[in-house]
Amino acid sequence: MRTKIKILDCHPDVIQKIIMDLKQPSFRGKQLCSWLFEKAVTDPDLMINIPKDLRVLFKEKLDLSLPELVEKRVCEDGSVKFLNGEGIESVLIKAGRRNTLCLSTQAGCKFGCAFCASSKAGFDRNLSTGEIISQVVYGLREVLPEKLNNIVYMGIGEPFDNFENTVNSIEIISSDKAFRIGQRKITVSTCGVVPGILKFADLNKQYELSVSLHCANNIKRNKIMPVINKRYPLSKLMEACKYFFDKTRRYITFEYIVIKGFNDGIKDIKDLIDLLKGFSCKINLIPFNSAIGTAFEVPEKEKVLEVGKQLKNAGMNVTVRWSKGADADAACGQLRYLRKAGKIKD
Ligand code: SAH
Repeated sequence: MRTKIKILDCHPDVIQKIIMDLKQPSFRGKQLCSWLFEKAVTDPDLMINIPKDLRVLFKEKLDLSLPELVEKRVCEDGSVKFLNGEGIESVLIKAGRRNTLCLSTQAGCKFGCAFCASSKAGFDRNLSTGEIISQVVYGLREVLPEKLNNIVYMGIGEPFDNFENTVNSIEIISSDKAFRIGQRKITVSTCGVVPGILKFADLNKQYELSVSLHCANNIKRNKIMPVINKRYPLSKLMEACKYFFDKTRRYITFEYIVIKGFNDGIKDIKDLIDLLKGFSCKINLIPFNSAIGTAFEVPEKEKVLEVGKQLKNAGMNVTVRWSKGADADAACGQLRYLRKAGKIKD
């Protein structure tokens, strides 16, 4: 038996070609894309404007299945956290009328950042394009008839360690024939994979780039982000960031988790200002969220505000991201970790 075509791996232009190969008129391809990407419907039996015999053919030839959810938690603030049986995790963050979906690109992570729960349960594998797109389908189902306004690649894994599938998924998410989310509403976050930043710049698109900086001197950054910072220390990272800016003219957002007593001192902030001075960019401060199994401490709100003020006074463009979804263990990788540790049952 021939294997079925995994349709969620496919760009709408490829879906169109598959429909032609099935000797169907092209409007059937448009209908299928509309069910999948506008209505988040993946069951052929529910695609009521498609004739029954064609739905049977779809079931025979196409794999339209989604990974099954094992856990869906709704937080007090309205955030929704999804976890499927493969340990793939995504979070829908609702802020006013804005729906932001946070996607994972890998099951686990190789980078071992000390503050992050994602590495704690180990690295399993890269997610396929379809597995990334499945997260968007679930997120859209949750918000319909509202829209998904923003997509952020800030879930589990390192997007640039799974570059091809990440970019394929972005192309589907931003396509006019699929999810139609504007390029500037899509943010990829990297811990600093330099070749990925360069390739991302060379795409010549308007996608947003965030860089998880967290420390602006190599000695300290080696302590909390050992894998990436030893491979690509700050000078190499900044060179790549400048290349990205020169090529795209898009401001990079540097993420800085404020960890009490570790990177919030006067010298730490001075290093940060010195590193980014004169570079057109934004800084996003994130109060450390106490992930499972890390020895770091959560900063007081006043301290975070004070750091913000110091940066602002130095002329930096700075915002603070107050945590959402914390009551559902929504910080990166926490649900997956709990499940692996046997604290969530299937
Ligand atoms: N590997 C990529 C994508 C993962 S998102 C990257 O490193 O950018 C990583 C982001 O998750 C960090 O920038 C930070 O914003 C957030 N994060 C991870 N652990 C956190 C923690 N304990 N507290 C607060 N934010 C955390």
